[in-house]
Amino acid sequence: MRVLLVEDDRMIGETAHHALKDASYAVDWVRDGADALAALATQTYDVVLLDLGLPKKDGLEVLRSIRSKDNPVPVLVVTARDGLQDRIAGLDAGADDYVLKPFEMTELLARMRAVVRRKGGQAMPLLSNGSLTLDPATREVSTRDGTVRLSAREFSLLQALMVRPGAILSRAELEDRLYGWGEEVESNAVEFLIHALRKKLGNAAIKNVRGVGWMVLKGD
Ligand code: CA
Repeated sequence: MRVLLVEDDRMIGETAHHALKDASYAVDWVRDGADALAALATQTYDVVLLDLGLPKKDGLEVLRSIRSKDNPVPVLVVTARDGLQDRIAGLDAGADDYVLKPFEMTELLARMRAVVRRKGGQAMPLLSNGSLTLDPATREVSTRDGTVRLSAREFSLLQALMVRPGAILSRAELEDRLYGWGEEVESNAVEFLIHALRKKLGNAAIKNVRGVGWMVLKGD
């Protein structure tokens, strides 16, 4: 999952950036509204975390611009505790939910999972395909043989494939879901993760399409 973090406050931004990376998101952090729009024009995100009080273009303008382009990306607005009008304006401009500052990271992460899920047309918290069920909250995978725990990156990779069963994702597309800006992408990282996942879940869990990429087969 790739998240765009739009936050001009350095301390809040650093805390969120760190916690999101820990929670296995690929994170791009921008500090003003103009940079947010530039990022959204060139990159596809799974969710946007949008502060409203921003330099250059405020959060509401950014949000209206996102929706005017028919971009359906889930947007979670971050507002001050006393900013009732801001919250209402944000929801009316197309935000999916909001969090109040100062926020607990655990709540922020739970709300992010919820908006991503709802946008995917999925009300249930678990992601299932065939014999595999993925729990984004605990990063656990259930198989026919029991429960397996994955590392953050293993989880991200499997999640990217399981969101679109039957679709082939190339190395570049997978790296895109795993790494934010400025993060060094180790060569063979994707192969290494696939190898680790197959070891934990069985060789059949992820199919390689030679020269194209990887997929999970659409299960019943
Ligand atoms: Ca701000």
